[in-house]
Amino acid sequence: MKKNYFKYLLGAFVSILLLFALVYWGEVSSITNDGQSSKVKELEVDFLNVGQGDAIYIRTPDNVDVLIDGGPDNSILNELGAVMPFWDKEIDLMILSHPHSDHVAGLVEVLRRYKVKKILYTGVIHTAPDYLAWLKEIKDRKIPLEIVNKKSEIMIGSSVKLELLYPQKSFLNQRVVNLNNTSIVARLVYDQTSFLFTADIEKEVEQELLRYDEEIFDSNVLKVAHHGSESSSSLEFLLAVSPTLAVIQVGDENSFNHPHGKTLFNLKNLPSVIYRTDTQGRIAMISDGQKIIVEN
Ligand SMILES: [Zn+2]
Repeated sequence: MKKNYFKYLLGAFVSILLLFALVYWGEVSSITNDGQSSKVKELEVDFLNVGQGDAIYIRTPDNVDVLIDGGPDNSILNELGAVMPFWDKEIDLMILSHPHSDHVAGLVEVLRRYKVKKILYTGVIHTAPDYLAWLKEIKDRKIPLEIVNKKSEIMIGSSVKLELLYPQKSFLNQRVVNLNNTSIVARLVYDQTSFLFTADIEKEVEQELLRYDEEIFDSNVLKVAHHGSESSSSLEFLLAVSPTLAVIQVGDENSFNHPHGKTLFNLKNLPSVIYRTDTQGRIAMISDGQKIIVEN
């Protein structure tokens, strides 16, 4: 009797193992079919669908992962699960543009679920709970944390360059009234293609950037600043960047009425195709160094 019971248990155990193997194999197949493995020679930039907030995932041709901001909540986790290979639980570089909740809140759980190797931020003071939780998580995990306070360049993998354009002054331990204007602005360059990430900068910083060097803003893709707010995207700045593709990361029916009609009007002055995460969901862009293809 005891022997039969043992056999029954063993049989059930083997059946469960087989079932898991089948489900697991099914997942692997669907990811491969999704074309993840065929994109390895290209740069991928995904404007993630996180509602009212920013979150941008970058994967270089040699598989270096970068995450700029994490959106307002844990919806970033599903989005990362969809764009990152299932075996990859490491993020090589995390960048927090500025400490507002719609950029930092989702990053707290990302730090708990992924091994993040290095972080860039401005060091500006902000006492909101999400930001403090993010800083505590970094401290507990002893992740190297670097300040952005001057113009610099970082090689992301062997062929992709990230230019840090702003701030060109230190906000470390500073109290700043308008945190939007402390946002890290970065330009990603892969051969002949380029992406400008402006976080939530407003017109004052746009003007400051224009004074630095206009040529560098000639980018193919513009992440439209501050979710399409009226306080950003002056026509002068948009014309200097002159993107062919513009992305507005914005939540559906958000309480700020973003994007503003004036921003959309200004964008219409450019030869840009406009993409919006509120109506189109995640926007995936693939660059082979010569051209950019949009998949969404
Ligand atoms: Zn924002």
